[in-house]
Amino acid sequence: MIAIAPYYLETQKESEVFQHAFKNKLPLLIKGPTGTGKSRFVAYMAHELDKALITISCHEETSSTDLIGRFIIKGAETVWQDGPLTTAVKEGALLYLDEVAEARPDVIVAIHSLTDHRRELFIDKLGLTIKAHEDFMLVASFNPGYQKGFKELKPSTRQRFLAISFEYPDAKKEIEILMNESGINKDDAKKLVAIGQKIRNLTELGLAETVSTRLLVDAAKLIESGLPKRLSVNVAVVQPLSDDADTIQALNDLAGLMI
Ligand code: ADP
Repeated sequence: MIAIAPYYLETQKESEVFQHAFKNKLPLLIKGPTGTGKSRFVAYMAHELDKALITISCHEETSSTDLIGRFIIKGAETVWQDGPLTTAVKEGALLYLDEVAEARPDVIVAIHSLTDHRRELFIDKLGLTIKAHEDFMLVASFNPGYQKGFKELKPSTRQRFLAISFEYPDAKKEIEILMNESGINKDDAKKLVAIGQKIRNLTELGLAETVSTRLLVDAAKLIESGLPKRLSVNVAVVQPLSDDADTIQALNDLAGLMI
Protein backbone atom coordinates (compact mmCIF):
# COMPACT_ATOMS: atom_id res chain seq x y z
CA MET A 1 0.00 0.00 0.00
CA ILE A 2 1.29 3.46 -0.79
CA ALA A 3 0.67 5.50 2.33
CA ILE A 4 1.67 8.96 1.15
CA ALA A 5 0.38 10.32 -2.15
CA PRO A 6 3.27 10.38 -4.62
CA TYR A 7 3.74 13.69 -6.39
CA TYR A 8 2.65 13.28 -9.99
CA LEU A 9 1.92 15.94 -12.56
CA GLU A 10 -0.57 14.86 -15.17
CA THR A 11 0.62 15.39 -18.76
CA GLN A 12 -2.25 13.98 -20.80
CA LYS A 13 -5.49 12.38 -19.67
CA GLU A 14 -3.58 9.44 -18.30
CA SER A 15 -5.24 9.15 -14.90
CA GLU A 16 -8.69 9.12 -16.48
CA VAL A 17 -7.55 6.41 -18.89
CA PHE A 18 -6.14 4.42 -15.99
CA GLN A 19 -9.33 4.78 -13.94
CA HIS A 20 -11.43 3.49 -16.82
CA ALA A 21 -9.03 0.66 -17.57
CA PHE A 22 -9.31 -0.38 -13.93
CA LYS A 23 -13.09 -0.11 -13.93
CA ASN A 24 -13.37 -2.19 -17.10
CA LYS A 25 -10.76 -4.74 -15.99
CA LEU A 26 -8.53 -4.07 -18.96
CA PRO A 27 -4.75 -4.41 -18.83
CA LEU A 28 -2.72 -1.32 -19.61
CA LEU A 29 0.58 -0.94 -21.42
CA ILE A 30 2.53 2.25 -20.81
CA LYS A 31 4.95 2.92 -23.64
CA GLY A 32 7.77 5.40 -23.49
CA PRO A 33 11.46 5.98 -22.94
CA THR A 34 13.04 5.59 -19.54
CA GLY A 35 12.61 8.41 -17.02
CA THR A 36 9.34 9.78 -18.38
CA GLY A 37 7.36 9.17 -15.20
CA LYS A 38 5.81 5.77 -15.96
CA SER A 39 6.61 4.19 -12.60
CA ARG A 40 5.71 7.33 -10.70
CA PHE A 41 2.37 7.41 -12.50
CA VAL A 42 1.58 3.82 -11.58
CA ALA A 43 2.44 4.47 -7.91
CA TYR A 44 0.27 7.58 -7.98
CA MET A 45 -2.66 5.62 -9.43
CA ALA A 46 -2.28 2.82 -6.89
CA HIS A 47 -2.59 5.46 -4.19
CA GLU A 48 -5.55 7.11 -5.92
CA LEU A 49 -7.38 3.78 -6.22
CA ASP A 50 -6.28 2.74 -2.72
CA LYS A 51 -4.90 -0.55 -4.01
CA ALA A 52 -1.73 -2.40 -3.17
CA LEU A 53 0.99 -2.15 -5.82
CA ILE A 54 3.37 -4.97 -6.64
CA THR A 55 6.18 -3.98 -8.99
CA ILE A 56 8.42 -6.38 -10.84
CA SER A 57 11.39 -4.96 -12.69
CA CYS A 58 11.75 -7.40 -15.55
CA HIS A 59 15.14 -8.38 -16.89
CA GLU A 60 16.35 -11.08 -19.26
CA GLU A 61 16.36 -13.73 -16.51
CA THR A 62 12.82 -13.00 -15.27
CA SER A 63 10.85 -16.20 -15.75
CA SER A 64 7.26 -17.28 -15.18
CA THR A 65 8.42 -19.19 -12.08
CA ASP A 66 9.64 -15.91 -10.55
CA LEU A 67 6.18 -14.48 -11.11
CA ILE A 68 3.91 -17.42 -10.38
CA GLY A 69 5.71 -19.17 -7.55
CA ARG A 70 7.80 -22.18 -6.67
CA PHE A 71 8.18 -25.05 -4.23
CA ILE A 72 10.71 -24.30 -1.53
CA ILE A 73 12.24 -26.57 1.07
CA LYS A 74 11.33 -25.67 4.62
CA GLY A 75 12.87 -27.99 7.17
CA ALA A 76 11.87 -31.49 6.13
CA GLU A 77 8.97 -30.28 4.01
CA THR A 78 8.49 -28.93 0.55
CA VAL A 79 6.04 -26.04 0.56
CA TRP A 80 4.55 -23.95 -2.17
CA GLN A 81 5.27 -20.25 -2.16
CA ASP A 82 3.17 -17.88 -4.25
CA GLY A 83 5.07 -15.56 -6.51
CA PRO A 84 4.17 -11.86 -6.80
CA LEU A 85 1.82 -12.37 -9.75
CA THR A 86 -0.16 -15.05 -7.91
CA THR A 87 -0.36 -12.86 -4.82
CA ALA A 88 -1.64 -9.93 -6.87
CA VAL A 89 -4.18 -12.12 -8.69
CA LYS A 90 -5.48 -13.54 -5.40
CA GLU A 91 -5.52 -10.35 -3.39
CA GLY A 92 -6.62 -7.87 -6.01
CA ALA A 93 -3.47 -5.78 -6.25
CA LEU A 94 -2.12 -3.77 -9.15
CA LEU A 95 0.73 -5.70 -10.72
CA TYR A 96 3.25 -3.55 -12.54
CA LEU A 97 5.61 -5.37 -14.90
CA ASP A 98 8.25 -2.76 -15.55
CA GLU A 99 10.05 -3.28 -18.90
CA VAL A 100 7.98 -6.33 -19.73
CA ALA A 101 9.71 -6.88 -23.10
CA GLU A 102 12.93 -7.70 -21.26
CA ALA A 103 11.41 -10.75 -19.56
CA ARG A 104 11.69 -14.29 -20.87
CA PRO A 105 8.98 -15.39 -23.35
CA ASP A 106 7.36 -17.73 -20.81
CA VAL A 107 6.35 -14.65 -18.78
CA ILE A 108 4.29 -13.42 -21.71
CA VAL A 109 2.70 -16.86 -22.04
CA ALA A 110 1.90 -16.88 -18.30
CA ILE A 111 0.05 -13.58 -18.43
CA HIS A 112 -1.97 -14.32 -21.58
CA SER A 113 -5.02 -15.77 -19.85
CA LEU A 114 -5.00 -12.82 -17.46
CA THR A 115 -5.13 -10.29 -20.26
CA ASP A 116 -8.35 -11.47 -21.90
CA HIS A 117 -11.92 -12.12 -20.77
CA ARG A 118 -10.85 -15.20 -18.80
CA ARG A 119 -8.86 -13.23 -16.23
CA GLU A 120 -7.41 -16.39 -14.81
CA LEU A 121 -3.99 -17.66 -13.95
CA PHE A 122 -2.87 -21.19 -14.62
CA ILE A 123 -0.36 -22.51 -12.11
CA ASP A 124 1.10 -25.47 -13.95
CA LYS A 125 3.19 -26.73 -11.03
CA LEU A 126 0.02 -27.09 -8.94
CA GLY A 127 -2.30 -28.02 -11.81
CA LEU A 128 -4.52 -25.16 -10.65
CA THR A 129 -6.37 -22.37 -12.40
CA ILE A 130 -7.30 -19.38 -10.29
CA LYS A 131 -9.74 -16.62 -11.13
CA ALA A 132 -8.41 -13.12 -10.68
CA HIS A 133 -9.79 -11.04 -7.84
CA GLU A 134 -12.23 -8.29 -8.93
CA ASP A 135 -9.63 -5.59 -8.34
CA PHE A 136 -6.64 -7.26 -9.95
CA MET A 137 -5.13 -5.13 -12.69
CA LEU A 138 -2.14 -5.79 -14.88
CA VAL A 139 -0.01 -2.84 -15.92
CA ALA A 140 3.15 -3.15 -17.97
CA SER A 141 5.70 -0.71 -19.27
CA PHE A 142 7.65 -0.97 -22.44
CA ASN A 143 10.40 1.09 -24.02
CA PRO A 144 9.65 1.10 -27.77
CA GLY A 145 12.43 -0.20 -29.96
CA TYR A 146 13.02 2.73 -32.20
CA GLN A 147 16.54 2.81 -30.85
CA LYS A 148 18.87 -0.13 -31.22
CA GLY A 149 19.33 -2.45 -28.30
CA PHE A 150 15.74 -2.46 -27.08
CA LYS A 151 13.62 -5.53 -27.26
CA GLU A 152 10.37 -5.58 -29.18
CA LEU A 153 7.03 -6.77 -27.95
CA LYS A 154 5.11 -9.09 -30.28
CA PRO A 155 2.02 -7.56 -31.94
CA SER A 156 -0.10 -10.42 -30.59
CA THR A 157 0.93 -9.49 -27.06
CA ARG A 158 0.57 -5.75 -27.56
CA GLN A 159 -2.98 -6.18 -28.78
CA ARG A 160 -3.98 -7.60 -25.43
CA PHE A 161 -3.37 -4.28 -23.71
CA LEU A 162 -4.76 -0.78 -23.89
CA ALA A 163 -1.76 1.42 -24.54
CA ILE A 164 -0.76 4.95 -23.69
CA SER A 165 2.35 6.70 -24.79
CA PHE A 166 4.55 8.71 -22.44
CA GLU A 167 6.84 11.38 -23.77
CA TYR A 168 8.91 14.06 -22.09
CA PRO A 169 6.58 16.72 -20.67
CA ASP A 170 6.42 20.14 -22.29
CA ALA A 171 8.77 22.79 -20.88
CA LYS A 172 6.22 24.38 -18.55
CA LYS A 173 5.32 21.07 -16.95
CA GLU A 174 8.88 19.83 -16.77
CA ILE A 175 9.93 23.03 -14.97
CA GLU A 176 7.13 22.46 -12.48
CA ILE A 177 8.22 18.85 -11.94
CA LEU A 178 11.84 19.89 -11.34
CA MET A 179 10.80 22.54 -8.84
CA ASN A 180 8.53 20.14 -6.98
CA GLU A 181 10.96 17.26 -6.92
CA SER A 182 14.04 19.19 -5.87
CA GLY A 183 12.99 22.54 -4.43
CA ILE A 184 15.16 24.32 -7.02
CA ASN A 185 14.26 27.90 -8.02
CA LYS A 186 12.35 28.60 -11.22
CA ASP A 187 15.24 30.28 -12.99
CA ASP A 188 17.56 27.27 -12.60
CA ALA A 189 14.73 24.85 -13.40
CA LYS A 190 14.12 26.74 -16.64
CA LYS A 191 17.80 26.53 -17.56
CA LEU A 192 17.96 22.79 -16.89
CA VAL A 193 14.85 22.16 -18.94
CA ALA A 194 16.30 24.25 -21.79
CA ILE A 195 19.47 22.12 -21.67
CA GLY A 196 17.35 18.97 -21.74
CA GLN A 197 15.37 20.16 -24.73
CA LYS A 198 18.50 21.22 -26.59
CA ILE A 199 20.18 17.83 -26.11
CA ARG A 200 16.98 15.97 -27.06
CA ASN A 201 17.08 17.77 -30.39
CA LEU A 202 20.70 16.80 -31.09
CA THR A 203 19.81 13.61 -32.92
CA GLU A 204 23.13 13.71 -34.79
CA LEU A 205 24.95 12.66 -31.60
CA GLY A 206 23.38 9.22 -31.96
CA LEU A 207 22.83 8.81 -28.22
CA ALA A 208 21.20 5.49 -27.28
CA GLU A 209 18.96 7.31 -24.81
CA THR A 210 18.50 11.01 -24.42
CA VAL A 211 17.99 13.35 -21.46
CA SER A 212 15.08 12.11 -19.39
CA THR A 213 13.11 14.06 -16.83
CA ARG A 214 14.78 11.82 -14.25
CA LEU A 215 18.25 13.07 -15.20
CA LEU A 216 17.10 16.68 -15.03
CA VAL A 217 15.53 16.06 -11.61
CA ASP A 218 18.83 14.56 -10.43
CA ALA A 219 20.77 17.60 -11.66
CA ALA A 220 18.26 19.89 -9.94
CA LYS A 221 18.67 17.99 -6.66
CA LEU A 222 22.45 18.31 -6.81
CA ILE A 223 22.26 22.04 -7.52
CA GLU A 224 19.77 22.51 -4.72
CA SER A 225 22.05 20.68 -2.32
CA GLY A 226 24.91 23.04 -3.17
CA LEU A 227 27.04 21.28 -5.81
CA PRO A 228 28.30 23.75 -8.45
CA LYS A 229 25.87 23.97 -11.35
CA ARG A 230 28.15 22.88 -14.18
CA LEU A 231 29.45 19.94 -12.19
CA SER A 232 25.88 18.96 -11.34
CA VAL A 233 24.92 18.93 -15.00
CA ASN A 234 28.07 17.05 -15.90
CA VAL A 235 27.53 14.19 -13.46
CA ALA A 236 23.73 14.01 -13.60
CA VAL A 237 23.07 14.65 -17.28
CA VAL A 238 26.16 14.47 -19.50
CA GLN A 239 28.15 11.53 -18.09
CA PRO A 240 25.16 9.16 -17.87
CA LEU A 241 24.42 9.76 -21.55
CA SER A 242 27.74 8.99 -23.17
CA ASP A 243 31.18 7.45 -22.73
CA ASP A 244 32.61 9.08 -25.82
CA ALA A 245 35.12 11.80 -24.89
CA ASP A 246 34.21 14.09 -27.81
CA THR A 247 30.50 13.80 -27.14
CA ILE A 248 31.00 14.49 -23.44
CA GLN A 249 33.10 17.54 -24.26
CA ALA A 250 30.51 18.83 -26.74
CA LEU A 251 27.65 18.34 -24.30
CA ASN A 252 29.53 19.97 -21.43
CA ASP A 253 30.44 22.96 -23.63
CA LEU A 254 26.84 23.36 -24.68
CA ALA A 255 25.39 22.93 -21.20
CA GLY A 256 28.06 25.18 -19.68
CA LEU A 257 26.87 28.08 -21.82
CA MET A 258 23.28 27.56 -20.75
CA ILE A 259 23.53 27.20 -16.97
P1 ADP B 1 10.11 5.67 -15.79
O1 ADP B 1 9.34 4.69 -14.96
O2 ADP B 1 9.36 6.15 -16.99
O3 ADP B 1 11.51 5.22 -16.14
P2 ADP B 1 10.00 7.31 -13.41
O4 ADP B 1 8.55 7.22 -13.10
O5 ADP B 1 10.94 6.55 -12.54
O6 ADP B 1 10.30 6.99 -14.94
O7 ADP B 1 10.35 8.87 -13.39
C1 ADP B 1 11.64 9.33 -13.14
C2 ADP B 1 11.58 10.58 -12.32
O8 ADP B 1 11.12 11.66 -13.13
C3 ADP B 1 10.63 10.51 -11.15
O9 ADP B 1 11.29 10.03 -10.01
C4 ADP B 1 10.19 11.94 -11.00
O10 ADP B 1 11.15 12.64 -10.24
C5 ADP B 1 10.25 12.50 -12.40
N1 ADP B 1 9.00 12.61 -13.15
C6 ADP B 1 8.87 12.34 -14.48
N2 ADP B 1 7.63 12.62 -14.91
C7 ADP B 1 6.95 13.08 -13.83
C8 ADP B 1 5.60 13.57 -13.64
N3 ADP B 1 4.73 13.63 -14.66
N4 ADP B 1 5.26 13.99 -12.40
C9 ADP B 1 6.13 13.92 -11.38
N5 ADP B 1 7.40 13.49 -11.51
C10 ADP B 1 7.82 13.08 -12.71
